[in-house]
Amino acid sequence: MFRALLLAPPGAGKGTQGERLAERHGVPHLATGDLLRDHVARGTHLGDQAKAHMDAGGLVPDELVITMIVDRLGGSQPMENFILDGFPRTLAQAEGAYDWGRSMQRVFDAVIMLEVPEDELVRRLVQRGVEKGRTDDTEAVIRTRLQVYEENTAPLVEFYDRRGILVRVDGTGSVDEVTDRIEARLADILTE
Ligand code: ADP
Repeated sequence: MFRALLLAPPGAGKGTQGERLAERHGVPHLATGDLLRDHVARGTHLGDQAKAHMDAGGLVPDELVITMIVDRLGGSQPMENFILDGFPRTLAQAEGAYDWGRSMQRVFDAVIMLEVPEDELVRRLVQRGVEKGRTDDTEAVIRTRLQVYEENTAPLVEFYDRRGILVRVDGTGSVDEVTDRIEARLADILTE
């Protein structure tokens, strides 16, 4: 049983760590941002609705994202294990996910929160903009995304803390160091 959420601000390393954890534990890694970018690239109806929000650094409306994820996790053979990255990102999404998870016996075992100081986040994202050319990795849009994250995440943190599944992990240092820290905490949780 391995169902986890990576909760972290833009640039904290959710994608990198999510892929590593998924590979090590043999579970799928679903990143909402990747799924949305794929919809935009394919020009789907959802992608058309999401694009302007993403380019401005705002959030895609909750109903669209919830439907996209629930369709992906559910279906005729609901996924049993998964690492989600970037969803839930608002309290409404967390409540939607929890309702679905309870009805399907698919609630999270752990919510891993990566903590990185803001200066370091901006530095990493500006660098990624240069290397990967992501259209939302420009300094002005980065600042908006960090602010949107701050505003929406506090209630989420409280929601998961109350359920006793929030795990805070220092996200600074090398990629390997962060993976080791996460694994050490997960080892405790998964053997409980
Ligand atoms: P980052 O964490 O660096 O912002 P992501 O790839 O996770 O990168 O997300 C990119 C963009 O996709 C966000 O700025 C937002 O517009 C949209 N997005 C991703 N996940 C969600 C979500 N759960 N709810 C609403 N919008 C989302």
